[in-house]
Amino acid sequence: MSVGVTENLGAAENLGVTGGVERTTLLVAAARAIETHRPDALVRDHYAEHFVRAAPGTAHWPVRPHDVPDGEADPLWGRLGRYFALRTRAFDDQLLRAVQLGARQVVLLGAGLDARAFRLDWPGDCTLYEVDRPEVFAFKQRVLDGLGTRTGEHRTARRVTVEADLRADWAGALTAAGFRPEHPTAWLADGLLLHLPGTAERELFAVVDRFSARGSNLAYEAGLGPDSAVVRDRPVHTATRERTGIDLPALLDAAPRPDTPADLTARGWSTTVHTPFEFTRHYGRGPLPEPDDALAANRWVFAVRP
Ligand code: SAM
Repeated sequence: MSVGVTENLGAAENLGVTGGVERTTLLVAAARAIETHRPDALVRDHYAEHFVRAAPGTAHWPVRPHDVPDGEADPLWGRLGRYFALRTRAFDDQLLRAVQLGARQVVLLGAGLDARAFRLDWPGDCTLYEVDRPEVFAFKQRVLDGLGTRTGEHRTARRVTVEADLRADWAGALTAAGFRPEHPTAWLADGLLLHLPGTAERELFAVVDRFSARGSNLAYEAGLGPDSAVVRDRPVHTATRERTGIDLPALLDAAPRPDTPADLTARGWSTTVHTPFEFTRHYGRGPLPEPDDALAANRWVFAVRP
């Protein structure tokens, strides 16, 4: 599928994705755009390149494999890009499994420029709640409107955007949007938790726990802890800073991370914790471990409320 052309929406407008943690969603979108055109793509997201092209200051970022001369050896658009693609695919598959098992509510926490509502095949009675900041949705909607989102191949689910700060009272905004805690839910937090203070992360899990009927699923990306100084100086971080202006280590919360898998287990969830590299082996492509690896502390967690 291809979708139409989007014009740059203009640097003068406050589009909410120009700085700080919101800008990281464009980084992930560019990675998905590049992945989409790889012959062995793990995900195909035809919306991603339009977000990158439309945002102020990112129109020059690569969106095709041939825009990345060093290919997979490039620390940013090669290895980290493939990490984002692998993460997207692993969590796509998890959400679709949860829906097959009966969940009809999907909540994407820190949804950013995620296009799962349009990319994936959902049952017609499924509702996807996307939670993020208002500025991110304003930008996203402008681009989707420009593309005519009805051209999406699979728009079978109802998509509901929930504007909220995930460090504050997002639970009220979610229920006001129609979310029903008594129904099984598939929750996802990819690329979010490392940006939150530990207290907000714990509080977020307390809400997820309170709002999860039996049979609910939760998938998320967690970090074992703040990176060491050696890891912060790795080429991936230097390349990201120099080429995109995003200082990733500075955007990650520097305090020790809560042990959320243990918390979930204590609350009665059945929880499994994986390294991303297990998924590289499972899908046959993606990053493998390297010395002083910036990805080594990342864990992908899958939990079920029996
Ligand atoms: N999950 C998406 C994906 O993987 O494509 C986006 C990941 S992006 C790295 C992180 C997203 O989390 C951004 O869209 C950002 O706006 C959102 N985010 C970070 N902190 C937030 C907060 N306190 N409240 C709401 N959204 C937040």
